[in-house]
Amino acid sequence: MRKYINHYKKLNWLVKSLLILKLLVILFLLSKFVFTGVVEIGRGLSSSRLYIVESGDNFINILHKETRLSRDIKYKITRGLEDEKVILYTGDEVRFNHRRDKLEEITISRSDLNMIVIEIEDNVVISKKEEPYNKIYNMIVGEIEQDGTFMGSASRAGVSATAINAYYQLMGHSIDFEREILPGSKFAIFYLELESYDRVKETIVYYMALETDRHKIDFYKYHNGDKGAFYNVDGKGATKTLKKTPLNIPVSISSHFNPNRKHPILGYTRAHKGTDFRARIGTPIPSGGDGIITKRAYGTGYGNYIKIKHNGSYSTVYAHISKFAKYKVGDRVKQGDIIGYVGMTGYATGPHLHYEIHYNGRAVNPMKIVLPSVKNLSKTELEKFNIEKSKYIALIDKMKKGDIKQVIIPNKKWKRQHKGKYNLDIKL
Ligand SMILES: [Zn+2]
Repeated sequence: MRKYINHYKKLNWLVKSLLILKLLVILFLLSKFVFTGVVEIGRGLSSSRLYIVESGDNFINILHKETRLSRDIKYKITRGLEDEKVILYTGDEVRFNHRRDKLEEITISRSDLNMIVIEIEDNVVISKKEEPYNKIYNMIVGEIEQDGTFMGSASRAGVSATAINAYYQLMGHSIDFEREILPGSKFAIFYLELESYDRVKETIVYYMALETDRHKIDFYKYHNGDKGAFYNVDGKGATKTLKKTPLNIPVSISSHFNPNRKHPILGYTRAHKGTDFRARIGTPIPSGGDGIITKRAYGTGYGNYIKIKHNGSYSTVYAHISKFAKYKVGDRVKQGDIIGYVGMTGYATGPHLHYEIHYNGRAVNPMKIVLPSVKNLSKTELEKFNIEKSKYIALIDKMKKGDIKQVIIPNKKWKRQHKGKYNLDIKL
């Protein structure tokens, strides 16, 4: 102890003041960190506070709780919102943007990219704007793991749930999931996410590919109409007249088309003329294609079932339905219209959809048939498609080769730093 005091005494005034100076610098840096720790939106000394609308909230009580605005300004805001017919919903994000402690702007945003902006100065100006967003391009190439499903493997590879669903729904036209996607099969997907305040508001898929020992499928998005559709390299539509996997959600297949299957309930060998998709009771069953309902009945084995005639040669059967939807015999349905709900009526060991595709009156193996495309591109459209496709095909290659998974283009308004991610110059 004595030694220590002696040592302390040795410190002259210069060292002491240096220590104080050091301390001041640290304090200054800390304060800077603390004050910039709030969400920066890139406009000098501005900060933003977030309020999520709860049920029972109205704008007046939110303004009371969250601001110290004058009664006059509050009145102008609520009247302005009424004039603009703005309705608040639970979950809406209300941001209070300050500049040098002065509340300057309130924004209301929701699940899409539309935002209501309330600018507050001497007066109140309300306008509708598009939310600022970052563009995140994702290129994910993966392989189906041993004993893995497409969904599990894709999710572990980093594909978002929305993109997995889009892949599943589109590829369901061309392949029988899980029977044709086996361990070792490769998949690739290229999609854009529009992200605002760390939330993905929109996902746009541009490219999907699948490589199995039997197939090599590549689909590219082309904006032929307003929404755009997918085509293969030759301009053939990815959407088929019938879907091989009709359900909209990724499911597992419990039993495949098999002419010599031993029936689990009846015990003897009886052809399994369809594919069984295991799904929860109540899962909506969409029609596999456009057509007319020709049967809506109860069969001993099938339970509640529906048959749809699609054209001169194709029809489909949906069995073990728990509940029928509104369509009756003779009604016309479009591909994707919900015709009933998954159940386990008839001979079924568990809830599933039994799906059959018939060609010229006979049940066929969905794996073995090549279904016609709904639309193909004309020669002139094909030229335009090739131009649009080449715009991002180069980027896809670049990302594949460079093992780059993500390209982020931050919004100019935001000075966000994306550490460990890549910034490339992309124009799509
Ligand atoms: Zn079955």
